[in-house]
Amino acid sequence: MSQVYDRVALIGLGLIASSMFWAIKRAGLAAEVTGYARSEATRDTARKIGLCDRICDTAQEAVEGADLVVLCVPVGAMGAVAQEIAPALKSGATVSDVGSVKRHVIQDVSPHIPQGVHFIPAHPLAGTEHSGPESGFAELFDNRWCLLVPVEGSDPEAVARLRSLWTGLGSNVDEMDADHHDLVLAVTSHAPHLIAYTMVGVADDLRRVTDSEVIKYSAAGFRDFTRIAASDPTMWRDVFLTNKDATLEILGRFTEELFALQRAIRTGDGDQLFDYFTRTRAIRRGIIDAGQDTDAPDFGRGNTNP
Ligand code: NAP
Repeated sequence: MSQVYDRVALIGLGLIASSMFWAIKRAGLAAEVTGYARSEATRDTARKIGLCDRICDTAQEAVEGADLVVLCVPVGAMGAVAQEIAPALKSGATVSDVGSVKRHVIQDVSPHIPQGVHFIPAHPLAGTEHSGPESGFAELFDNRWCLLVPVEGSDPEAVARLRSLWTGLGSNVDEMDADHHDLVLAVTSHAPHLIAYTMVGVADDLRRVTDSEVIKYSAAGFRDFTRIAASDPTMWRDVFLTNKDATLEILGRFTEELFALQRAIRTGDGDQLFDYFTRTRAIRRGIIDAGQDTDAPDFGRGNTNP
């Protein structure tokens, strides 16, 4: 793979930014990558582990002369960061982000994008429950989807270039409208995370009653829940606050189905349960056939799809 951008700036240096950096280096996608994080501790760690070619002490310094700036901070912080960097953006540059919610980011960031700068939101559907500058690895995006969410008037050439970057990072790339993105992610990621958080909370309450049995006999399904529920609290707080409508819509439907299954159990309606589980099994088969997971019984796997 050859160079796509001369200079890339990563703002926020956590799991996603550090994985992007290692993957950019792996494929030689940029001549120089600068980085900035708000805390000195994160910047120090980044310097120590060789994350980015140059770590800057201000966000403005990091974006100066950059052809691509990627905002890799929690969704709720995107607007403030965009405002901070706006005066230092180079004309013709592209600003993108990796936020898990798109409509809210577009609303918060767009007003700060200067004339002559492209804004192309994006969301890599890859992650782990780990966070921080030391959690990244070059393979994170391999064979995962990255959704580009161009806004009105997005320059097709700038979109194509960003697409090349994500392809070079190992991803399969698709384009999607912001509202559709937020609904799809509410179904595939946001609501499941909330359910995992809840289930682990319930089990924790139960543990007080049954001593350590919940952990000791933690079977595959529950272990997966605990891994998901270990995800970064700031990131997930922001996801729910900013994808409110779609998440509430899906949770409403979820609650209805849960009540229906609860009733089937109470009334001993085995046919209903069997039919339901047969349908969900076919969905799982479809995911495997589409190459988005393997059949291996690896419930402790590290790679999820936020
Ligand atoms: P992370 O590992 O927790 O890192 C977050 C970074 O953002 C840190 O460098 C942190 O700076 C900075 N930050 C936090 N709050 C900030 C604020 N209020 N203002 C400015 N900077 C702030 O996060 P991540 O997992 O890389 O996630 C980054 C973005 O990617 C989020 O928008 C998330 O929705 C999205 N995303 C995450 C995943 C995932 O699985 N983790 C997957 C896809 C997309 P300090 O270190 O200095 O505190």
